[in-house]
Order: sequence, then structure tokens, then C-alpha cells
Amino acid sequence: MLYNRKAGGASTKLFYFLITLEVFKMGRVYNFSAGPAVLPEEVLQEAAAEMMDYRGCGMSVMEMSHRSKMFQQIIDDAEQDLRDLMNIPDNYKVLFLQGGASQQFAAVPMNLMKNKKAAYIVTGQWAKKAYQEAQIYGEAVAVASSADKTFSYIPDCSDLDIPEDADYVYICENNTIYGTKFWTLPNTKGKTLVADQSSCFLSEPVDVEKYGVIYGGVQKNVGPAGVVIAIIREDLIPDECLEGTPTMLKWKTQSENGSMYNTPPCYGIYICGKVFKWIKKMGGLEAMKAHNEKKAAILYDFLDQSELFKGTVEKKDRSLMNVPFVTGSDELDAKFVKEAKEAGFENLKGHRSVGGMRASIYNAMPIEGVEKLVEFMKKFEAENK
Ligand SMILES: *Cc1c(COP(=O)(O)O)cnc(C)c1O
Repeated sequence: MLYNRKAGGASTKLFYFLITLEVFKMGRVYNFSAGPAVLPEEVLQEAAAEMMDYRGCGMSVMEMSHRSKMFQQIIDDAEQDLRDLMNIPDNYKVLFLQGGASQQFAAVPMNLMKNKKAAYIVTGQWAKKAYQEAQIYGEAVAVASSADKTFSYIPDCSDLDIPEDADYVYICENNTIYGTKFWTLPNTKGKTLVADQSSCFLSEPVDVEKYGVIYGGVQKNVGPAGVVIAIIREDLIPDECLEGTPTMLKWKTQSENGSMYNTPPCYGIYICGKVFKWIKKMGGLEAMKAHNEKKAAILYDFLDQSELFKGTVEKKDRSLMNVPFVTGSDELDAKFVKEAKEAGFENLKGHRSVGGMRASIYNAMPIEGVEKLVEFMKKFEAENK
């Protein structure tokens, strides 16, 4: 056996496969985390089954050279599947990057601020962080904000005062912490739209052509932390960035090198690729949207008639992905989170900045998970009247 490491026979492989399946079925909770978040069980099982020996190459994807044919195929397939799912036009580049969504807060102005001016719509903490980061590089103008009501709504963006020489208009499309979503894109008055889609990425169909740049950290709805996907219209990738832009943050460096100027987040990209295939199998983004609407309706309908729990967001702006709610009492909130955890509903505590509860119900959360949560909430309500 030692002189032939590949000699592990079919029975050994079957053994590994079966124990991983068993291990993965045991003790799974309903995970309502905002991110890193729930992934499809099928994807996890496949990854487990391929852990020791990826398709006969005798190693895991974690151990493989990013310059190998095997990995090139993985990243090419991932890109193609994403292009198919989102219907990404040929004049858009797809980049698999590192540094999280937060690093794009800097990369966006570094690549796009030719006039050193941009318009930001501030609808929550992530938008605010992007806005503050942009101020390091130029003039970031807050053209709208919902800070006056703790970001519980999306401001009317149909006729904003957008500076004539703004290089772009920036939004955070789904506000992960506050649970709001842009259901109508802002009127950018002809300026390039840049959107952080981290927490709504692949949750529904999008018309990519309405955007100049879409980006998102994948740990919300697509894969493990460590990958950020950027979809950028080719003509927006500049030859020259702001002075001092690091090589790694120039989109041109990344696009000219097929996201492999340096070692990419290989394993994360591999898992994203599996999630793309899973979404395709589930019927694509139309099917995802229907699935997500159904789940969100179960929870929102309950919140709207509950005498104990209450949603915190203006109805018209509600997110399908992140659902914040409160009881009105910090004590009861804490009791609920604790008892929910004991019952197998994890990560329902609201973001540390807002308190209360938040259920993140991304693509991979099954309908059953939301139904059981609502059942549990009903029981809690009856017991705590
Ligand atoms: C989580 C999140 C971020 C931050 O992502 P990192 O990958 O941790 O930098 C930014 N924007 C939105 C909308 C998010 O949900």
C-alpha cells in the first residue's frame, strides 16, 4: 500500500463516502446565521466525498496547484455556470477575488474615481462603511440616507441630486443588518451603478446590464468566506487607477490574469462552483426567487399577525434574505434566542449593533426550516403572553 498511495480500492472509497454521509446527517441544526451561513447539504456532502481524492487525482482540491489543469477546469466551470445563471453579457468580466466585500469598498473608488467624486446612498452599516472608505480617495457625497429612522427603510431614489461629475452611484442592494432591500434601483441619471450584492447574490434574477459593477462576498449566500465575486463591465476596468493603488486591487491586474495573478482562494471557488451547479439543478434564479419568496412570506405573515413579535422594517422594503424582528423587551428577546438555540435554531440573535433577532433565510435554508421556526415562535408566544 505504501508504494502505491492510489491503491485505496472502491471499498475504501465507499467507506469514506458512507461515513461522511452519516456524519453530515447527524446533528445538523437550522442555521439562521447572516454569514458565514448555511450551505446546501448536497454541496457539503459532495465536498466531503471528494475530500481525499478529487476525481481520481489522488488529492483534495485544497492541496492542488492553482496552475494545474484540474483547477483551471474548476474555475472555468464556476465562471461559466455563474454566467449562465445570471445571464452575464460577454462584455462583463467575472473576477474571483479575496479581501472580502470590505476590500472592494476601497477598490471601487481606486478603480472608478477618475473625477474623484462619487454619489453614495447610505442605507445601513455596510453602505456607510463603503461611503467612509471612499472618502479616503476622493469626494464621496451622501445623496440619500435612511439613518434618520435607523435604516428601517429605503429612501426614494427616483430623483436624487447626483453631482454632474460623479464617477458612479453606489448602493448596498440588500442591507444584511437592517433587513431592507432595494426593490427599485435608483435613478442614477446616466451614471454607472455600483452595487454591493453580498447578501442577495443569486437570490433572484438580476438584469446585469443595469449595473456597471456588481460585487459580493460569497459567505452570505454562495459559499465559504474568503471569496468575493466581482462582475465588472469591461470598459470600466481602467488602465490607470488612482495613484498608489496596490497591484492586487487593480481590477485590470485581476482581469488580465483570469483571477490568478496570485494564488486565488481555490477551495472557496470550488465550493462556489458546486453551489452554482446546485442552483442550476434547482431551476436557476427564477426558481430561487420563488423559493425565497415563499419562505419569507411564511415568516413575514406570521410577524404581521403576531401579538408578541414584530418586524422592524417598512413593509415595502423588506428583504427576502434577512428578517429582523423584536418582541419589544430585551429580556424576552434574550430568552427567545436562548430557547430557540436549545430547540436547534441557531444564530437568531440580531446584529450586535441593533439587538433583537434576525433570521437570515438564504437560498440554502429549506422551507421546512422556516416553517419549524414559525411553529416555535407561536409556541413561545403562547407561553410568554
Ligand atoms: C457581510 C457584508 C459585507 C462585509 O463582507 P466581508 O466579506 O466580511 O468584507 C459587506 N456588505 C454586505 C452587504 C454584507 O452583507
